[in-house]
Amino acid sequence: MSEAIRVAKVSALFNFTFSAIKGVAGVAVGSVALIADALHSLVDVLGSIFVWFGLKIAERPADVEHPYGYYKAESLAELGVGLIIVLSTVLIMKEAVEALISQNYPSFEYYAAVVAATSAAGNEVLARYKIAAGRRTKSSALIAEGKHSRADVFGSLAVLIGFIFIKFGYWWADSIVAILISFLIIQMGIGVVKSSIDVLMDRVDEDFASRVREILEGINGIASIDLVAARGTWRNKIVEVHYSVFPWATELIDTIQEDIEKRLRAFPEVSKVVPVVRIARKKPVVAIPVVDKDSDECGDLNSPYFAIFSNGEPRFVENPYSRAERRKGPLIAELLAKEGVNVLVIRRIGEMAAVHMRAKGIAVFTGCNRISDALDKVKSASTQLNI
Ligand SMILES: [Zn+2]
Repeated sequence: MSEAIRVAKVSALFNFTFSAIKGVAGVAVGSVALIADALHSLVDVLGSIFVWFGLKIAERPADVEHPYGYYKAESLAELGVGLIIVLSTVLIMKEAVEALISQNYPSFEYYAAVVAATSAAGNEVLARYKIAAGRRTKSSALIAEGKHSRADVFGSLAVLIGFIFIKFGYWWADSIVAILISFLIIQMGIGVVKSSIDVLMDRVDEDFASRVREILEGINGIASIDLVAARGTWRNKIVEVHYSVFPWATELIDTIQEDIEKRLRAFPEVSKVVPVVRIARKKPVVAIPVVDKDSDECGDLNSPYFAIFSNGEPRFVENPYSRAERRKGPLIAELLAKEGVNVLVIRRIGEMAAVHMRAKGIAVFTGCNRISDALDKVKSASTQLNI
């Protein structure tokens, strides 16, 4: 973190200095392209500042009047900066077009060309510094920042090339370069405005939500995951999880909740989890693998039958996959799901097979020895279990 802050400071200082130098030189020689490049550097400084500003305010702890925290402060700042970027770029474009129409072109001055060249070289050094620091600290954000600086190199190079054209009499080159750079900046600006509006409007990040759903599928006792909605910024997300538990699993809700939070810790951007729990109206249908129909011994996925308990006497379903070499887990999970099973009580099961069961909404309980004992246990877990 301190490395990232140091890099951001160096970058902001460089961009601020060069923004000023390019701005002064641009006005002095009348080059719209150099002024546009100066504006671009200023936008980069503002970008660093709003990230810092957002970090400071957004990380304030939630309070009574702001129970959802302050994370939107970052997006508000972003929206402001984005609008400034778009408006100022439109002004630059207008200047450039007017210069084209009035055939107004800058005088060629060596010092202005030197300013553009130095800015390109400085940005290249900055790009290398950021990418090296990013690799060292394994920070993809820093590497992305480095690539941004490399793009800035081309902006300044374009200004320099424009100057060379002017030296050879192509007066329109400066305006054309200015317009090209403006397109680059306005794209950045629109991107910033769009992402801030997404956060302010609580737009749900579908992709992220489906990854969260995947990671939550298969928690024991959950009958179904009804809604996963994630909102917030790229590094500060509030995740709402609506799920139903089996009636016999109500005592497990605390454990389930802990499990959900533990699993969501895999995403460093998740700052808050809001759970909504319902009791599933599904009746438990318990499957226990058996060696033969009279045995009281619990089997495993190699057993030839499943005893299925839903009401009173069990019914027996043949296990056609008991000797399957491949895809045994998913095939049996599908079979049991088709039989309406939502609880599997078993002697032992492989981790992958258990994952397949849970993906089909079947809770798995292992360590079963005697069927009668197991059923007693399941019964005593809840009087609502009607076996
Ligand atoms: Zn830039």
